[in-house]
Amino acid sequence: MKNLEKLKNFILDILFPIKCLGCGIELENAEPKKRWICPECLKKNKIRENQVCPACEQFSSGGETHYRCKNQTALDGLWVATEYKYEAISEVIHKFKFNFIKDISFPLSEILIKSILEVEEYGDFQDLILANFSQESEEEEIYIEKEKNKKTETIIVPIPLYKNRYNWRGFNQAFLLSKCIADKFNLDIYDNLLFRRRSTKPQAKIRSMEKRKKNIKGAFFVSERSGIKNLIKNKNIVIVDDVCTTSATLGECAKELKKNGAKNVWGLVVARR
Ligand SMILES: [Zn+2]
Ligand SMILES: [Zn+2]
Repeated sequence: MKNLEKLKNFILDILFPIKCLGCGIELENAEPKKRWICPECLKKNKIRENQVCPACEQFSSGGETHYRCKNQTALDGLWVATEYKYEAISEVIHKFKFNFIKDISFPLSEILIKSILEVEEYGDFQDLILANFSQESEEEEIYIEKEKNKKTETIIVPIPLYKNRYNWRGFNQAFLLSKCIADKFNLDIYDNLLFRRRSTKPQAKIRSMEKRKKNIKGAFFVSERSGIKNLIKNKNIVIVDDVCTTSATLGECAKELKKNGAKNVWGLVVARR
């Protein structure tokens, strides 16, 4: 009986997603893009103040990989927007992943965008992701110095899903987030250059960093199609995912992309578990 009740609520939640996952306030009149987290909870959700090095997880300005840690990861850095511990965030990410709700990509990408724009000082990551973006026309006026005619060399790549998983879920949540980021910052997005070779055990279920690295090793490959390598060569690449556990998966992607000539590779995630 209890399970039946649970199932009923589950279905109702999917059909009538009208409550904020943070505070429970009704959002039935909100447009679909604004559902799931109310504006108040979105505001309350603090962006992460201190970024850490993706390899050693110690403080590092702007999330850059320490020079001394470069031999442990192919990532040049990792930008984490917020904390997984916020209930609304973990709820939303969970719903996004397992309940097939595409619109959740909107509040999550809003959090990503906010975290990128609202830091006090722009670092390497901002230089790279805002290379093609100017906020002059937007309401919060942040002036970004832009060299005229400078062609941006930054592209967005969603972390690929294994095709069985894609078929099961019907969408790649990393692609939906990537799309919002690319649209906002006026960057190109490519989901046809990096692929996942096999399905892997969820990283969250593996304890040691060494085993995680082993689990994901060789899981990604760059397409052999003509022209693909030219797209990667000398580019700054931002790999997007909703949540990461360690940086092992992003690091493995970075390794493949760098093998194929990428200049800088950064990870961008909503939260770290
Ligand atoms: Zn709320
Ligand atoms: Zn480090």
